[in-house]
Amino acid sequence: MKKHYKKLLATILSAGVIASTISATFVSSASATFVSSASAACDVKVEMVQNAYVIHLFKNNMLAVYLPKVGTTKNGRYFNQFESTYYNNVKKAGNYFKSLGFVYENYSALLYYPDKTERTPYTPDTVFISYTYDDGSDKSNKAGHNYVGNLKGDAISEFGMITIGPVDNNTMNELAYVPDVLAHEYAHLITQQIAGWDRNVRSSSIEAGAIVEAYSDILGEFSEETPDWKMGTAAYKNNSNKNKCFRNIKNPQSTVTPNIYRKYYTNYTEFKNAAASSPYYSNDIAYGGSTVLSHAAYLMTQAGLDKDLVAKFWLDSLSFIDDTKPLTMSECRKAVVKAVNKYADETNSSARGRSALISRVNSSFNLVNVY
Ligand SMILES: [Zn+2]
Repeated sequence: MKKHYKKLLATILSAGVIASTISATFVSSASATFVSSASAACDVKVEMVQNAYVIHLFKNNMLAVYLPKVGTTKNGRYFNQFESTYYNNVKKAGNYFKSLGFVYENYSALLYYPDKTERTPYTPDTVFISYTYDDGSDKSNKAGHNYVGNLKGDAISEFGMITIGPVDNNTMNELAYVPDVLAHEYAHLITQQIAGWDRNVRSSSIEAGAIVEAYSDILGEFSEETPDWKMGTAAYKNNSNKNKCFRNIKNPQSTVTPNIYRKYYTNYTEFKNAAASSPYYSNDIAYGGSTVLSHAAYLMTQAGLDKDLVAKFWLDSLSFIDDTKPLTMSECRKAVVKAVNKYADETNSSARGRSALISRVNSSFNLVNVY
């Protein structure tokens, strides 16, 4: 991971043009031209494939995972409306992250051969996407895995692939039609690539789980041209007032998610107390704590920072996370501040400009009690 990290860092540091684009955006506080700077000619690569749900031994752990099946890429010519929307939304997310300076280098995808037992590590420049039905069939071309219901109303992304599950069509829209959720999933691939945040890191502590989910919410929500600061409003039918969502990062305590009752935090100490009171890893507390960080990111935009610049700070901070230490929100704060300094260096910021940026970032962390 370390080796890869350095290589990637070098790639990002060489992308000076991007920093100056954001600099202009920051000064004018207008982001309209920023996102469109990624031209169609250098779109990120996305392929729709069939998936296989496999359980095997990986790095001494039993791993149950969705993997792309070799040779099942579906040609865009044959996409239906669902598939083309899914594909275009993932591509749009990827192009946004590329515009922030992210270079996709998938070093950890595994390929699955349907008729064999072995898996082959693969290093494509492509994000694979797939869909799974409740009954185990695959919506992209009607032949999937045999694991029933695992992803009902949910999505997963790792090993270079995003897989979305079916939803209750009475109350929800397919996740293929929910751009911020797909961007959230894409961001999991980014944090896995740059910082090595795989499922083991995510479950290493409730705080680590909260952080991994927060970064995906931040990058996912900030990928919207005009963020509504709520994750997944498009997932719900009869939601024109945008009341229902997965997480409200502007007002986390006001989150309304049908069938999910969970406390969301905007104060690090309260979250830590809740985490400490749980004898086991708790996904509920992890998601509940994720809003400590995602709310801090929201607050940075309210402190006058352009949202794409804030997104870049969080993205770049992934390269500055000290992975010799336990993953904590305090370490994330240090890493974000390092990313701000890097930006100030690259843009030849004045001392006054630099301290203005840093004080806005610091005060946002202060407000959620992360020091
Ligand atoms: Zn997630």
